[in-house]
Order: sequence, then C-alpha cells, then structure tokens
Amino acid sequence: MAGSRALLRQCPLLLPQNREGTAYEGFVTAQGRDFHIRILLPIDFQLKNARIECSWHLKKTLHAYRRILKQRLHSCPDLVSFMVELKTVLEIALRNTQELHIPRPPEYYSCLVRDLEILGWNKVAYVDTGLTTIKLKAEDSCGRQHLITLKLNAKYPTEPPECLVDFPVQFAVSWMPQNSIMDIYNQFRAALESLKEFWDAMDEIDRKTWVLEPENPTRSATTRRIAIGNNVSVNIEVDPWHPNMLPECYFLGADHVINPLRIKLNNNMHSWDPEIGLLQNLKDLLEIDFPSCAVLEKSDFAKDCGICYAYRLDGTTPDQVCDDPRCGQPFHQACLYEWLQSLPSSRQSFNVIFGECPYCNKVRKSNENE
Ligand SMILES: [Zn+2]
Ligand SMILES: [Zn+2]
Repeated sequence: MAGSRALLRQCPLLLPQNREGTAYEGFVTAQGRDFHIRILLPIDFQLKNARIECSWHLKKTLHAYRRILKQRLHSCPDLVSFMVELKTVLEIALRNTQELHIPRPPEYYSCLVRDLEILGWNKVAYVDTGLTTIKLKAEDSCGRQHLITLKLNAKYPTEPPECLVDFPVQFAVSWMPQNSIMDIYNQFRAALESLKEFWDAMDEIDRKTWVLEPENPTRSATTRRIAIGNNVSVNIEVDPWHPNMLPECYFLGADHVINPLRIKLNNNMHSWDPEIGLLQNLKDLLEIDFPSCAVLEKSDFAKDCGICYAYRLDGTTPDQVCDDPRCGQPFHQACLYEWLQSLPSSRQSFNVIFGECPYCNKVRKSNENE
C-alpha cells in the first residue's frame, strides 16, 4: 500500500475505483487547473497495456506529446512514476500552448485603447477582434499610402510589438517599456521620409516606362526590368539608401542589340550625375529613350516564348532572344536549353549548348543556368 499512498501524494484527486487497484479516476492538476482522467490497468498491472481516458481538453493539450507518453508508459516501473512524468509533460504542453493565447490582463487593453486614442483612430486601418493585431496607416510627404502591422504579445507594453512593414530595408524599432504605439508610429513616419528618395525614383520609373518585372511591384521591391525595345530590356537593382547612384544593370536580349548598350553604359559611366535622378541618368548613359507606357502596350514588349507559347513559366519570362535580327524570337531559358539538348545537331561545351533556333535555324547558344 506504499504505492497507493505515494500516488495519493502525487495526485490527490486521483482515486482508486476498485479493490484490486486496476481502475483510477479523478483529476490531474497542472498550472493550477484540473483535468479529468481515468486510468484502467490490466490485471497484471503492466503499465504498457494500460488504457488512459481523458477529457477532450486534456487530450487536445497532450496531442503533440502522445508518442512521448506512450514511451513513458513502457518505461515507467509503476503508476506513480508515470503520473510524475505525465504531470511534467502536461506542464510543458500547457506552457507552450498558452504562449499563443495567454489571457491578457485588463491593463493590456486599457493601455492599448489609451495609446490608440492618443494616436487617433483615424490612423487605424484594422484591428482584430482580440486586439492583438493592429494595422496603422500613414501618408508620406509625397502622398503615398503605407501600412504598418503591429502584433502585440501579452507582455505589451513591457515588450515591443512585432512590426511588419513593406520596406526595402530592415525596420528595427527602438523600444522602452514606457513607450507607446505613438513612438512606433513616429519611428515609422521617420523611416518613410528616409526612404522617400528611393520611392520617388522607383515611382518615376513605374510611371514613365514599361516595367516588365515585377508585375505589381511592392514598396519593398528594389529591382525593375524595364523594356527598351522589342525583346530588349534592362534589369536594374537599386540601392534603397542611394537610389540616385548608378544601379546594377543587366541587359536581356539579343547580343547584337545589347552589346552596344553595354558599351555605352561603360563609356558614359563617368557622366552619371546623382543630382538629376535615376531615370534621366539611365537615358543619358544609354543614349536612348525608354518606350513610354502612355503610348505603347505591354504586349509590344512582352512576347510569348516561341517554344511553350506562354509568357510566364515557373516565375520566369522569355529572356533569351534569337541573335538573328530578322528573327529575334524570344524563349524561356529552360525551354531553349531543353529544345537544343533534344536536337542531334546541337553540341555541348561544358554547360553551354550550341544549336539551331527553332524559328530561323540560325545557330545560337544556351547556358544551362545563367
Ligand atoms: Zn517557354
Ligand atoms: Zn531565330
């Protein structure tokens, strides 16, 4: 009977249901909460063959730990040691699930509502029903609309909310426990102004040229593939902190068209003038005028692949172009590589393959991965 006394000490709410001691029912306590449980042991008291029934809530809490518990049933010498293990696992499980939805103290809500009132409800774009996710809106000095999403944990305001923004750079909030949402909002506004030049430059490109990629640029997107002509484009990567410096440029198109552009870029690089803006500099350096989206359709530049007849393929666009000026047919790199590989007349040298254009039979090359 030493065993049953130890069990009573460990789980005072779990009581034997028969003389043989093969059935127990009651509650197991963890984190100040009681969970209903029933344990049925076989006649030989072998724990590994025990049957454990528990409340829906306990079952749900322990679901992710059922393999550990099964293993404990096999390894524990008696019911007391198993109940000790069960309570330990339950404590951990409860702590892990509660992190997500700890009931928040009343001060959390009063503090939050006061903060939002000071900030002004007109700046609030969204609040979830639990008051844990808040979206705030702001307009920068150029009239662009921006959003910041705040995810607050139960320790707010001791701990800062998680802040999500659509920026091309990291947005790190500096936070003290006495700070409020107002301080985050002000930091957000200051960050918007520091990125103003970058967005001005990108907006001008989006407004005045045909941007082939990305299709709908977000505020965090730092690259643009700008159409130059039929199947010719330049991909630029802009530094958000130095948007008016020469960006990284990569030309796409047939060699006979893009080689002269490369040469112009190299020769005119020295005349880049940070004072006159990104787009104008690009025009001056390349000695071209970008086709305007005001007068031309996107389909004038975005030609489908000549092999798969689609424009988009696994997120890529046709960026390989037949070198023959009279042909100029665009292809996806993957399509062209596969096509050339299948031709008996093609020859391969390392990862470059040479073969005939499916349209004009001119020899052209394709790299496996460019
Ligand atoms: Zn294709
Ligand atoms: Zn061709």
